[in-house]
Amino acid sequence: MTEIIDGNAVAQSIRDDLATAIDQLADAGHTPTLATVLMSDDPASETYVSMKQSDCEEVGIEALDIEIDPAADAGELYDTVADLNDDDAVNGILVQMPVPDHVSDRQVLRAIDPEKDVDGFHPENVGRLVAGDARYKPCTPHGIQKLVESAGVETEGKDAVVVGRSDIVGKPMANLLIQKAPGGNATTTVCHSRTDDLAEKTRNADIVVAAAGVPEMIDGDMIAEGATVIDVGINRVEADTEKGYELVGDVDFESAKAQAGAITPVPGGVGPMTRAMLLYNTVKAAGLQHDVDVDL
Ligand code: NDP
Repeated sequence: MTEIIDGNAVAQSIRDDLATAIDQLADAGHTPTLATVLMSDDPASETYVSMKQSDCEEVGIEALDIEIDPAADAGELYDTVADLNDDDAVNGILVQMPVPDHVSDRQVLRAIDPEKDVDGFHPENVGRLVAGDARYKPCTPHGIQKLVESAGVETEGKDAVVVGRSDIVGKPMANLLIQKAPGGNATTTVCHSRTDDLAEKTRNADIVVAAAGVPEMIDGDMIAEGATVIDVGINRVEADTEKGYELVGDVDFESAKAQAGAITPVPGGVGPMTRAMLLYNTVKAAGLQHDVDVDL
């Protein structure tokens, strides 16, 4: 029987565990606080930010909601980030991407104090991750590590294939998989749009992480029997539904499930974990900044 890895349940257990750490901070007189900065009127970005804020409120993290007119000067965003860096009550800063074209996303990421960079995208935090000394693991790959662990899948000595090499998913995922640490020690291949014969790579993998953003591109023929399949993709495809679309992953779920030992669904797999790990990083940040040794 193929195990369907329940991301909602694992995310809930992460949130439950955070309650202890949040109590420890409260005992020391602190409320973890995340500032979200939105410089966009894209409905998807607005939805992501409001979901992050309600997630925070649900577990007892204070959410500061800052909105900047997308037509404003880039300087307004940098000034906002600088103020948040200086504000001792703010533990985590998240600038919702994408920012408008006239703002450099790289410059924004560098402007955030690395100790408050709960996305883990600042070059200092990327460097620490690569060096095996992560301060904040990026939320999606960290969530995937937790999902794999929850399914009782050992990564050590396994062959892993990561499809996608983005800075936010593919690269940090591959880095975590090769770390000399629990959840790592896998022999890892990173595939991308120039990879020759992707199917041959995935078919020989014990663990496949699909993060290409191409609807249902990985099907059962590309999966080894008993493999663990993690589907990161969130793709809107036209469908005969009320909204006129549905969300599908990068994996063709039914055919891959027939081969896999364990698989994540879309929705309800990686997505809820990404959200939970942002809360985790924010609580961790509060512990580090207030010098409270929280249980995480
Ligand atoms: P990007 O578009 O930044 O990166 C996609 C990567 O996939 C690139 O490295 C690209 O290769 C590679 N790729 C594209 N097409 C193919 C192909 N046909 N074969 C092999 N590789 C291919 O995407 P992200 O990493 O940001 O996101 C990936 C997916 O995950 C998206 O669907 C996104 O919505 C979703 N996502 C989900 C999250 C969650 O919480 N569940 C969080 C973040 C993202 P190249 O570098 O050569 O262009």
